[in-house]
Amino acid sequence: MISQLSTQDQAIHFVNFKRRYALMRDEIISEVNKVFASGSYILGEPVEELEESIANYLKCKYVLGVANGTDAIILALKILNIDAGDEVILPVNSFIATAGAVVAVKAKPVFCDVTEDLNIDVEILEKLITKKTKAIIPVHLTGRPANMGAIMKIAKQHSLAIIEDAAQSIGAEFEGKMTGTIGDIGCFSLHPLKNLHVYGDGGLITTNNKYFYKQLKLIRNHGLLDRDTCVCWGLNSRLDSVQAKIALIGMKYLNLWTTRRREIAKKYQTNLGDFVKVPVDNHNHFSVYHNFIILTDKRDQLMHFLQEKNIETKIHYSVPLHLQPVAASLKYKHGDFSVAERLSKQMLSLPVYPELTNDEVENIIETIKNFYGKK
Ligand SMILES: *Cc1c(COP(=O)(O)O)cnc(C)c1O
Repeated sequence: MISQLSTQDQAIHFVNFKRRYALMRDEIISEVNKVFASGSYILGEPVEELEESIANYLKCKYVLGVANGTDAIILALKILNIDAGDEVILPVNSFIATAGAVVAVKAKPVFCDVTEDLNIDVEILEKLITKKTKAIIPVHLTGRPANMGAIMKIAKQHSLAIIEDAAQSIGAEFEGKMTGTIGDIGCFSLHPLKNLHVYGDGGLITTNNKYFYKQLKLIRNHGLLDRDTCVCWGLNSRLDSVQAKIALIGMKYLNLWTTRRREIAKKYQTNLGDFVKVPVDNHNHFSVYHNFIILTDKRDQLMHFLQEKNIETKIHYSVPLHLQPVAASLKYKHGDFSVAERLSKQMLSLPVYPELTNDEVENIIETIKNFYGKK
């Protein structure tokens, strides 16, 4: 048996930003220093360079750097004129920001249950469409693409806009197309936790529609056409030059990081499938494993057992959106989303970041096997 973590003092953290920084320190300090010395700190050349780099990577026409991923969704909703009285459909298992963005423009979030792959259930989706529905926000949760084929078909039939929440899925592909470039507008987060990240907050918006691009560019910066001319009401959702530089460095490593995430995922899939339910790769998908979520009826006991052996895990997400206190006014109740509610008690996210060592991955696998061996 592989060495037991309980006998080591080295804990395995769910994320390890310090280890990541130690590997990139020299490059980051040198590039960030150039920005500091340039005397230009907001938008500017580094942001334009990043926008171009992302457009090439995603093979899409237009990219804009914005303040964060939540703002990206808010800006998208705004230029689609989604407003009070409108409804927007989104999966009930997501980060709260997806719903919060809808509420921020005064529209009503309408939740849709998910399937075991944790993404929006396209079989149920169509039944939720009303005269008030304006858009759907599929979330590519854990970096696994939602069923965009079916979603685009439904959107077309009902003339609905599609805003992809690709905060967790940069580099993931659905039938050969990059997530975030399939719908009308794609929204990405550069939060430190995300696969491509900065050292603070940051986000990206993508579109192939020139009109949307021009509108988005205006409202990310107060609606200013130039320094003296404001043509529409906007907000301040600009990306900093320093963060853009850090994301540009990240772009050099993104494919390597994705490969490593998939390598770790493969080890879990190969070794844990007999004990817990593991996510499986689908032939027309390319998943980037932002999270690696296993399903087990003994979730709480397993989480506790791993914690005792110094292995940190998380739950994404322990409370489905409709059961959050803030959602009470939407009048949903327990039992409305049976799959999401069940999954919220079975899901466990294992560490899957690129800087994990093979020994650490082995330790996690062996510890989980030990847990089930004891049953
Ligand atoms: C991280 C995340 C967001 C929000 O991004 P921020 O940059 O933190 O504002 C939105 N949706 C999902 C699914 C996310 O994971």
